[in-house]
Amino acid sequence: MLSIVLPSYNESGNIKNAYIEIKKVLSQAKIPFELVYVNDGSKDDTWTRIEEIIEQGKAELEQSRVKGVSFSRNFGKEAAILAGLANASGEACVVMDCDMQHPPETLVEMYRLWQEGYEVVEGVKRTRGKESLVYKSSAKLFYRLMTKATGIDMSRASDFKLMDRKVVKSILSMPERNMFFRGLSSWVGYKKTEVEFDVREREFGTSKWSKWSLVKYAVKNIAAFSTVPMQFVTVAGGLTFIGALILGIQTLIRYFTGHAVQGFTTVILLLLIIGSVIMTSLGIMGYYLAKIYEEVKRRPVYIISEVKES
Ligand code: UDP
Ligand code: MG
Repeated sequence: MLSIVLPSYNESGNIKNAYIEIKKVLSQAKIPFELVYVNDGSKDDTWTRIEEIIEQGKAELEQSRVKGVSFSRNFGKEAAILAGLANASGEACVVMDCDMQHPPETLVEMYRLWQEGYEVVEGVKRTRGKESLVYKSSAKLFYRLMTKATGIDMSRASDFKLMDRKVVKSILSMPERNMFFRGLSSWVGYKKTEVEFDVREREFGTSKWSKWSLVKYAVKNIAAFSTVPMQFVTVAGGLTFIGALILGIQTLIRYFTGHAVQGFTTVILLLLIIGSVIMTSLGIMGYYLAKIYEEVKRRPVYIISEVKES
């Protein structure tokens, strides 16, 4: 059986549509499936829609079924993905957006590759679909940074991927709280292949990410996945130290040769440079400390208020 995890946040208009489209494609290909909707604390009637689909699934589906998991509040897409995977029971699991920007036809292709023995089938974007220029270039910058920081090329990566049960098990066994799904699914390894897909236009509603939430997402994931920013500070610290050494020697020479009065500029410069370096290092360290603090708390990534299935 193929489990399809659908994180849904305020997707009222897309729930039914996703069911219809996926059912059409998969029943045609004769693939038994399970839909796992995760209601990520939606503020609209997404959960009611999911409950309706569960009932509809009971009546319409034979081998397949629909399951719903509801969060007590919005925990974010990564948490929804984890909860979906934890509640999925198929031998293969696919994570997919429920706005159908990930084309359901690709599911069949992924499933066939899995049958051939691949354990991870990554959906990679052939085209990115309609996005504003600002969005496109900041996404590019983010992925460039991520690639540099982690050594894994993620420029065309998406959350659309199929994973074998083994892979799902490994991912679920990760003890970390701050999870970056795209990165982690490359990190776990396994036999991997790719399928290309064209990002479609969103069916209903608007993107759930605000500009600010995307910036937060980028910073969080870079920090969750690498400690490279900390090394920047070390390098900057080293360079400033060399500069300070040269200035120090020069100041001493000036002092001993009796030209010390002009040292004013140097003092100011030194103060500024060292001050700023210390500030940024403290800032970055504080950030990592905050992350450690969060990990140490061992809070659950999500809280489920309800589970239903057909
Ligand atoms: N999503 C979620 N929780 C959130 C934000 C988004 O579960 O806090 C889901 C959303 O319902 C959708 C998927 O993640 O199924 C992708 O979101 P969206 O389409 O808004 O992002 P985009 O396609 O613009 O990157
Ligand atoms: Mg989308």
